[in-house]
Amino acid sequence: MSCHWCGSSILRTSRLYFVDLPRLVFFQYPVRCRECDERFFTNLFEAMRIRAAAKERRTARLHQRFVKLDDTAFRPHGVRLPTSLQAP
Ligand SMILES: [Zn+2]
Repeated sequence: MSCHWCGSSILRTSRLYFVDLPRLVFFQYPVRCRECDERFFTNLFEAMRIRAAAKERRTARLHQRFVKLDDTAFRPHGVRLPTSLQAP
């Protein structure tokens, strides 16, 4: 699945507006391109797949941030923390 306008594959599901409801009846769901910001419709199942992929990216990003906060990630090999800072 890629953007109809610029061809990017970085997409997210778009906010659902009242005027979108008739298209939803035909299993069409709005998605927005994260590159060019254009909004277009795709089938509901593809949209749900896009939403799941976006959630996965978000989780991976949070995990990366969490790992960076872990002091062991920054500590060069062989360098030990002072005992006062070591975990019990
Ligand atoms: Zn695009």
